[in-house]
Amino acid sequence: MSARILVVDDVIPNVKILEAKLSVEYYDVVTAYNGPDALKIAREQQPDLILLDVMMPQMDGFEVCRRLKEDRHTAHIPVVMVTALSEAADRVQGLEVGADDFLTKPVDDLSLFARVKSLLRLKMMMDEFRLREETSSELGVISMSDRKEEAIQRARILVIDDNEYSVRLIREVYAETYDVTLGSDMEEARVLLSGGDFDLVVISLDSAHFDPLRLCSRIRSMEETRQLPILTLVDESDRDKLIKGLDLGVNDYVMRPIDTNELIVRTRTQILRKQYQDRLRHNFHRSLELAVTDSLTGLYNRRYMSNHLDAILQRARMDYKPVCVMIMDIDFFKPVNDTHGHDVGDEVIKEFARRIATGVRGIDLACRYGGEEFVVVMPDTEISLAMAVAERLRRQIADKPFAARKGAISINLTCSIGVTVSGEEEMADSLLKRADEALYKAKKDGRNRVVVAPSNVRSFSQPPGIAAR
Ligand code: GH3
Ligand code: MG
Ligand code: MG
Repeated sequence: MSARILVVDDVIPNVKILEAKLSVEYYDVVTAYNGPDALKIAREQQPDLILLDVMMPQMDGFEVCRRLKEDRHTAHIPVVMVTALSEAADRVQGLEVGADDFLTKPVDDLSLFARVKSLLRLKMMMDEFRLREETSSELGVISMSDRKEEAIQRARILVIDDNEYSVRLIREVYAETYDVTLGSDMEEARVLLSGGDFDLVVISLDSAHFDPLRLCSRIRSMEETRQLPILTLVDESDRDKLIKGLDLGVNDYVMRPIDTNELIVRTRTQILRKQYQDRLRHNFHRSLELAVTDSLTGLYNRRYMSNHLDAILQRARMDYKPVCVMIMDIDFFKPVNDTHGHDVGDEVIKEFARRIATGVRGIDLACRYGGEEFVVVMPDTEISLAMAVAERLRRQIADKPFAARKGAISINLTCSIGVTVSGEEEMADSLLKRADEALYKAKKDGRNRVVVAPSNVRSFSQPPGIAAR
């Protein structure tokens, strides 16, 4: 879906020009010719961006912006004030009433589209973030404490510029709000970027000692910095360079001589977007983690294992490799709860899980299958090896007592284990069922032992042609 942009100006030709330019780029344009109409349309049609003229009779752009930002139905929509070139004071006033950016008249295409794109990207990020936050808190996946954990830290900016005067100015503008690191050539930039966790890089396109466009391109192509926003400083005479830069993925620019207000808003927009993006990614990983792991032990949960086992089996079939599965269950666990209480039982389960996790290989999938029952899936594993692993785990449980309540309680435990290997065309259900039958036999035969399920299907470990046992 294309983004919807509301254009507000009392001069009809101004509206028409912007409408035509934006429509050519497939934006969906709505228009208003005065403040009150603009407020009404913004509320009803929820545009993604508003281009707002300052000088309008009846209600001026500042007042419209102030009201938009006060209304919770429209406060999240980015507003770009369109001001006359001579009115630098307007910019300050615009920022004070909550404008997100400004453009100067006559509006040229390059700046129009750079700003529109940059703010739309920010809006998209924020919309996505608000949506996920809602869903996540509904599901109970993201708690308030998670939010606190990621409280926005002081943003870090890397400035790559070899012009002393300009560096001094940038430093002054950023000093209060940001953590600034300076670099003056390609090599320094490379080292700083690989080590630092920056939220924005500001690059001067008129640097004399290195090729700034090459640096931009490198930042975009390196995995660690692909998402890092780039703001460039450009000389009016370097428009060609700027166009190339925007093509390479530069996010925004400020023309020299630098207008400090402009530098402030453009910096803020890029940093906000980066931080939203980071938080989205963090929350995504966190919810993924919570959805697939068991909260007591940190092992994978049953749902994840069941789903994943089918995928593992499918891959194994294609590679003609066997997959082994073992199910383990703690012997006489109920008496642990009954004697010491459920809390101690939990501690024991945790320690049991820890011993499993440290006793298997990285490619093995250890999961908590139920209360005190665990499953380990071993891809690309012969049954003989699986038996050895199971036997080693059995001993690691039986040989060392379990300590609970900070060592005040010591409990001797054993466990029973059923092991089996996949056959041709085997699915997760039947494989797990067979391992479970072996476990049942281990319990019946006296516990504290490993039992291998008789495989009645030909295993992949046997060369084709040998009859099934
Ligand atoms: P068996 O040797 O036959 O396995 O005997 P058992 O006592 O271990 O018997 P069973 O497996 O039937 O009992 C498991 C017990 O584990 C029952 C349940 O109260 C307890 N349990 C299950 N989940 C948890 C848990 O998360 N924490 C605690 N503390 N106990 C649990
Ligand atoms: Mg048990
Ligand atoms: Mg059990």
